[in-house]
Amino acid sequence: MVQATGYKVRGSKLGVRGTMRVDMKNAARILNGIEIAAEIKAEVAAEARSLAAMGVTPGLAVVLVGHVAASEIYVRSKVKASAELGIRSEMLTPPESVTTDEMLALIAELNARDEIDGILIQLPLPAHVDTRRLLEAVSPEKDVDGFHPINAGRLQSGRPALAPCTPAGIMEILKRSGLPVAGQHAVVLGRSDIVGKPVAMMLLHAHATVTVCHSKTVDIGRYTRDADILVAAIGKPGFVTAEMVKPGATLIDVGINRLTDAAEVGRFFPGDHARAAQFGQRGSTLVGDIHPAAFALAGAYTPVPGGVGALTIAMLMHNTVKAAKARRGTAAVKA
Ligand code: NAP
Repeated sequence: MVQATGYKVRGSKLGVRGTMRVDMKNAARILNGIEIAAEIKAEVAAEARSLAAMGVTPGLAVVLVGHVAASEIYVRSKVKASAELGIRSEMLTPPESVTTDEMLALIAELNARDEIDGILIQLPLPAHVDTRRLLEAVSPEKDVDGFHPINAGRLQSGRPALAPCTPAGIMEILKRSGLPVAGQHAVVLGRSDIVGKPVAMMLLHAHATVTVCHSKTVDIGRYTRDADILVAAIGKPGFVTAEMVKPGATLIDVGINRLTDAAEVGRFFPGDHARAAQFGQRGSTLVGDIHPAAFALAGAYTPVPGGVGALTIAMLMHNTVKAAKARRGTAAVKA
């Protein structure tokens, strides 16, 4: 296990900001999402303070329908992060039985309220609700998840947009770690509207040469083996094996897959006592879409957990303050 043999070094010695962990066997650099997220959150808090000095408190409305355990955990984290950074949040909790029309009325109300800068509809929604229609009903100016087609179009055409949080977080990891993107071959596995497509577009705007692979791609390894930057976002545990990776590549693992079978944990993390102990305690552990053995070949990689996942909430907070500034910042300065 790579992390077990790692040690910490100061980034300044290596021409990058922050600290990072380096593996002693192969010098694979671990891109610490938690540290990068903390840096972004500190910047967001400072911006929220500047807005507060102008009489503006950024406001985030989080809509949580029903009782999906994972969604409740995510929403609690978002509300907690808001409070820490000086963002006023409110949670709306319609029952599982809510109709599309009732949700549309709620969204219209939130769109109309001036003190609400960001609206987040926690997904997934119950199957009987028209999710696409609801996401399109959110005002693009308050669409802090960046899911509205107007924001997708703005992103695609290189205009200022509220960008989806996970892809934006990936770009922050690359940028703040000083990793080159321009001229690199970036291969993205997955073409979802939430991760694959927007991150491919962002990499293209950052001047990478981009290949997107999906479930119908024939011989994916042929592409991944040529990737200088590999972004895996398919939701298949350990899909990318060591044989599929170019030595020295930057590996960005977006996948979050929960392992609940002890034998499987042993196969993914042989000899990793810390992981085995964690599994013993919790009954599950997380693995990404990239097999841990592949990380040993990387030049740099994001661990799971503690990599990309850590950035998503930080970027949501960033988008909320950005939306507040775009909607109310100028007016507040004049007031
Ligand atoms: P998604 O909407 O299910 O999309 C999965 C994509 O992967 C699709 O484009 C699909 O191809 C492709 N795919 C599936 N199986 C494949 C295979 N065997 N070979 C090649 N491509 C394959 O998933 P998502 O929302 O993008 O999420 C992907 C992963 O990232 C999940 O593990 C999710 O939990 C994780 N995630 C993490 C964060 C975070 O904050 N870290 C945020 C969002 C998602 P087709 O289009 O051809 O079906």
